[in-house]
Amino acid sequence: MRVVLLGPPGAGKGTQAQIIAGKLGVPAISTGDIFRANVSGQTELGRKAKVYMDAGDLVPDEITVAMVKDRLAEADAAGGFLLDGFPRTIAQAEQLRASLQELGHGLDRVLELVVDEEELVRRLSGRRMLVDGQMVQRDDDKPETVRHRLEVYREQTAPLSGFYEDEGLLARIDAIGSVEEVTSRALRALGADTDGEAGQPAAV
Ligand code: ADP
Repeated sequence: MRVVLLGPPGAGKGTQAQIIAGKLGVPAISTGDIFRANVSGQTELGRKAKVYMDAGDLVPDEITVAMVKDRLAEADAAGGFLLDGFPRTIAQAEQLRASLQELGHGLDRVLELVVDEEELVRRLSGRRMLVDGQMVQRDDDKPETVRHRLEVYREQTAPLSGFYEDEGLLARIDAIGSVEEVTSRALRALGADTDGEAGQPAAV
């Protein structure tokens, strides 16, 4: 299955991506994680990306698209993938469609996690991650950067919702609730909720 997870910063994409990809048996590919790994590894790509990330801006499409194209060409993504954080602009979505077409594929579903902005600000300002045994705040989770990232989302990424709706691929789910609740809504929307189906009575 080839799936894109869409949603604003703080919607829980990273958490859900790991769980859902595990259930689907496909790799979760997060552009944010790849960029962060490159920043900590002090690679050339990381050095370029860091400037934009720290400002809460998008890394330019040409850098991001080439990186995703390489990642999707790896063997583990041949049978499917779950993309988290990509595409984030209409141009990225168009390039993704073209890359997949070259491989003779298309997306199966785009799942949008819906959370209102008040809740997002609350979640992001309290968010911490574990680095070398310590809980630290991501540089781009500082309040002023968070506000800017939400603006960037509204202007550049939110239009993808309509783009994928027109393609007949979009499913929106309410992403407020426990992690388990959101996961089961997501799996239902993907038609992958084995629990529900297993309980169906046999025809008499
Ligand atoms: P969040 O979803 O919480 O904003 P991510 O980990 O997905 O966080 O992304 C962190 C940062 O990495 C973004 O603010 C942006 O600078 C960069 N980034 C990630 N994915 C993309 C993308 N598809 N296009 C451009 N920049 C990206």
